[in-house]
Amino acid sequence: MYRSHTCGELRIEHVSQPVKLAGWVQTVRKFGSITFVDLRDRYGITQLLFPEALNPQLQSQPLGREFVLQVSGTVTERSSKNNNIPTGEIEISVSDFQVLNSSKTPPFTIQDDTDGGDELRMKYRYLDLRRNLIKQNLTLRYRVNRSVRNFLDSRGFMDIETPYLIKSTPEGARDFVVPSRMNDNQFYALPQSPQTFKQLLMVSGYDRYYQIVKCFRDEDLRADRQPEFTQIDCEMSFVDQEDILKNFEEMTKHVFQEIKGITFNEPFPRMTWEDAMKYYGNDKPDIRFEMKLVDLGETARGNGFKVFDEAELVVGINAGGCSEYTRKQLDELTDWVKRPQIGMTGLIYIRYNADGTLKSSVDKFFNEQALQLFADQCKAKPGDLILILAGKEERTRKAMSELRLEMGERLGFRDKDVYKPLWVIDFPLFEYAEEDNRWVARHHPFTAPKPEHIHLMDDLSQYAKIKANAYDIVLNGTEIGGGSIRIFQRDLQEKMFAALGMTKEEANHKFGFLLGAFEYGAPPHGGIAFGFDRFCSLLGGSETIRDFIAFPKNNSGRDVMLDAPSEIDQVQLDELKLSLLK
Ligand code: ASP
Repeated sequence: MYRSHTCGELRIEHVSQPVKLAGWVQTVRKFGSITFVDLRDRYGITQLLFPEALNPQLQSQPLGREFVLQVSGTVTERSSKNNNIPTGEIEISVSDFQVLNSSKTPPFTIQDDTDGGDELRMKYRYLDLRRNLIKQNLTLRYRVNRSVRNFLDSRGFMDIETPYLIKSTPEGARDFVVPSRMNDNQFYALPQSPQTFKQLLMVSGYDRYYQIVKCFRDEDLRADRQPEFTQIDCEMSFVDQEDILKNFEEMTKHVFQEIKGITFNEPFPRMTWEDAMKYYGNDKPDIRFEMKLVDLGETARGNGFKVFDEAELVVGINAGGCSEYTRKQLDELTDWVKRPQIGMTGLIYIRYNADGTLKSSVDKFFNEQALQLFADQCKAKPGDLILILAGKEERTRKAMSELRLEMGERLGFRDKDVYKPLWVIDFPLFEYAEEDNRWVARHHPFTAPKPEHIHLMDDLSQYAKIKANAYDIVLNGTEIGGGSIRIFQRDLQEKMFAALGMTKEEANHKFGFLLGAFEYGAPPHGGIAFGFDRFCSLLGGSETIRDFIAFPKNNSGRDVMLDAPSEIDQVQLDELKLSLLK
C-alpha cells in the first residue's frame, strides 16, 4: 500500500492515527534540528514534521522540490495552526520515509503566483498542471461535463460517437485534412463539427443525441481560440425551436445550479438579432448593463457638421454619470477609438453638467438647444456624459459596441461573478461575404429558413431579409452556444445549396449522402452545440479557455511541449505519395 490517505484528507479527528502518505515535495524548511516539508498531491497539502532522529537519513537522501516522497507517521495536532488550508490543524510526525523518485529543479515555481511565463509553462505543461489554479479549472471542467451528461441522460439523450476521419466539404471554416495512405491522392478531413452526422442520426430515429466532442477548424487563431476545441453537441427530432430553447435553457440552469449554486428563477430573456444589433451593436450583447446604442442620425444631420452629414450612421451612448470626465480623460478615450482595432477617426462628446448646462466637442455647430435634443434622445440627465461616433455603418456600429463594453468595464459594470444569459433569436439566414462577393450561410447551410420567408429565396435582392429559425445562447457578452431548426426536405436543401451558389453537381458531390438520406423519411429536427471550453472558462470566472484545457495549443496553433506540428520523414511521405514543394 503506497498510501492510506491523500494529502488533502487528514483533519483534527485523525490525531494519533498512524498514516501513510505519498506525494510531491512542495517546500522543505529547516527549523533548528527539525525539518518541515509540505507534501502535495491532487487533493491538497499536508505538513510533515521530520524529527531530529531522521537527520542522518535526510542527510544521505536530501529532499528537493518536486521529489516524490512516501512517508509513514502519526497524525498530530499542530502547535501553530494554518487556517488557510483544510489540513492546517494537523501535521504528520514522520517515523519513516522513502524517496520514490527525485526531480530536477522545476523551471518555474509550482504555485498559484508562479514565476513562469506563458511559453515556459506550456513547454512544461505537465508541471503547470500540478498548480492549484489549473487543477481547480480542470476539476471544474470535469464537474461541468458530469453535470451536462447527467442532465442529458435524465432527458433520454444518448451519447453516440461520430467519426473523426470524414470527407472534406469546405463550408465555413477551413478543414484540417489527413492524407489517406490506402487511397492514393485522397484525403480525409477532420470534422468542424458532427453536424451532418447528428442529422443523419435523426434520420435513423435516434431522436435525442448528444456528444461532448472534439471539433477541428483550421482558422487563423484570433485571441483565445483553439484549432481543436470541444462542443456539447446535441440534436433532437420532432421538436420546434421552442422545445429546443426550453430544454437547453433547463440544461444551462441545471449546470449553474450544480456548479455555481446559482438559481435562475426567471426564463432567460430573448432578444431578436435585429434588436441586439440595434441596441448593443453586436449579436452577443452583454446585458449586465444597459447603456444602449441610440441612433442619432436625424438629430445630427443637417446642421453643417460634415462628419455627421456624411456619416452613414451617427450613434451615441449615454455613459452615465461621467460628466466630470476631464479633458485628458476624454482625449484618452478619443485615442482609444482611434486605435487600429477600433478604427474610428474621432469621438464626439456631450457633457450634461450637474448644473444643467450642456457642453460638447461640437459647440461650433450645435447650440445648447440642439444639444438638448441629443440629451433627450439618450435619456440623459445632469451629470451624464454622451459619447457619439459617426461614420460608415458597419464599422461605426462595431466601434460603438466596443466602446460601450469598454465604458462598461471602466465603470465596473462587467462583474464576472454576475451572470446574465439570454437567447438571441431570429438570425438572418444569409450574410454577405464581402471578400468572396457572395451570400453565405449565416449559421450553416442546413439551417431552415422561417417557413414564411422561404419564397424570398427566389429573389437575390431579398436575401438580407430572410430570417432563420436559428438561435444563440449568450452569456455576459460571449456566445456559449448556437443552433437551429434544420432543413429536412431534399428539395428545400437543394434550394439552399443553390442559393449559396452551388451547382447541382457540386451539391451532390459534397452532400449527396445527406440529400439521399432526406429521401428516406427524415423527421423534422433541430439542435444546438455549446462551446464547452468557453462555457467552462466563464463558469470559472476566467477569460482564457486555455486554462481550462489540459494540453492546449498556443496562438500559432503549436503545441510547444510536443513541438507539434512537425516535419515527417521521407518514408512517411513516400508511403503517402506526397512530395513537398518547399
Ligand atoms: N454544428 C453547429 C456548430 O458547430 C451547431 C449546431 O447547429 O448544432 O456551430
